[in-house]
Amino acid sequence: MKKSIGIYIHIPFCISKCYYCDFNSSSNKSSLVEAYFDALKKEIILNSERAGQYEVKTVFIGGGTPSSVDSRYIEDVLELCRKHYNLRSDAEVSIESNPGTLSEIKLKAYKYIGINRLSIGLQAWQNKLLKSIGRIHCVEDFTNNFKLAREIGFDNINVDVIFSLPDQTLDDWNETLNNIISQGPEHISSYSLKIEENTVFWEKYNNGDIKEIDDQLDREMYYIAKRKLSQYGYNMYEISNFSKEGFECKHNLIYWNAENYLGFGAGAHSYFNKKRYNNVYSIEDYVENYIKNEGKYVEGEAFIDEAESMSEFVILGMRLTQGISILDFKERYGIEIMDRFGEQFNKLIARGLVEYKDKRLMLTETGLDYANQVFMEFID
Ligand code: SF4
Repeated sequence: MKKSIGIYIHIPFCISKCYYCDFNSSSNKSSLVEAYFDALKKEIILNSERAGQYEVKTVFIGGGTPSSVDSRYIEDVLELCRKHYNLRSDAEVSIESNPGTLSEIKLKAYKYIGINRLSIGLQAWQNKLLKSIGRIHCVEDFTNNFKLAREIGFDNINVDVIFSLPDQTLDDWNETLNNIISQGPEHISSYSLKIEENTVFWEKYNNGDIKEIDDQLDREMYYIAKRKLSQYGYNMYEISNFSKEGFECKHNLIYWNAENYLGFGAGAHSYFNKKRYNNVYSIEDYVENYIKNEGKYVEGEAFIDEAESMSEFVILGMRLTQGISILDFKERYGIEIMDRFGEQFNKLIARGLVEYKDKRLMLTETGLDYANQVFMEFID
């Protein structure tokens, strides 16, 4: 069987910047779209040779807001991937989208070009909250888009939501979850808000205009999501991700299982043949490199040695609720996991943060709350 990889394609354009967002995305740069896609297409072709030995099992078109650009751009890059890479016939092909940027024409185009997983960023069910976090859409845009996507035949839809938003109450959060569940997406990603530097929220926070939700409420919201979603058949398979059976995101599983992937576009990361790369971050520099025809997209490159690789394997894998297989570790690195990390695991097991079951090591319920502390144990 051929070895497999995933492909990530970054589309860094948005209609406007959400107040909490520190992703590599920009508004007001639509004049660069054409040149950006030219650069992207070149990068995709340039990399195809080294991926020749691999089957592509997932393509993830993320952002930014990929649905903010004309669908012909998406069609072009996907077509190139099919032409230059060994895309499996059953590959998971996802696109991220936001309500307010989707239309019947776009959704039909996505379906036609083989996109089989649609991710929609809703974030909250209250228009007041959506406005307060700088979203461009209202909840009705979401319900209309969701309905349309179903009618057009998307049978694998993810919805993104955020909790611990400033001024969000438990009632708001319950209402958000209840309404999403009633729509019945196959997958729900539920992240807790972190106020990051270089965002509107960071400024507001430092000016005292907004407050962070306290830890207790944050945890309560997390427990509610876990309880409610599991009650309605959504299995929590990763700290922040829930799905109906068989609808786990195959692309994100590549990251958590520390498998190979190639990332294309401004700021995109790759992990390939024991090396991590990242592309130049700014859209302008990325496009400029293309115009100069030097093809130097890669800014950072680091060889991951065996010790680092083992730590990464544990840290990423422990995000999954099924944890890591001690047999997989042995097969991958040729040594017993307890010979390498026995001290750390014994300590974490004694503290009740990790458990050992069926030849796997995984976070306990308590460990899920202290996941970052657990991960720290494996960083040299
Ligand atoms: S739509 Fe997404 S990527 Fe764009 S600004 Fe908002 S959160 Fe960031």
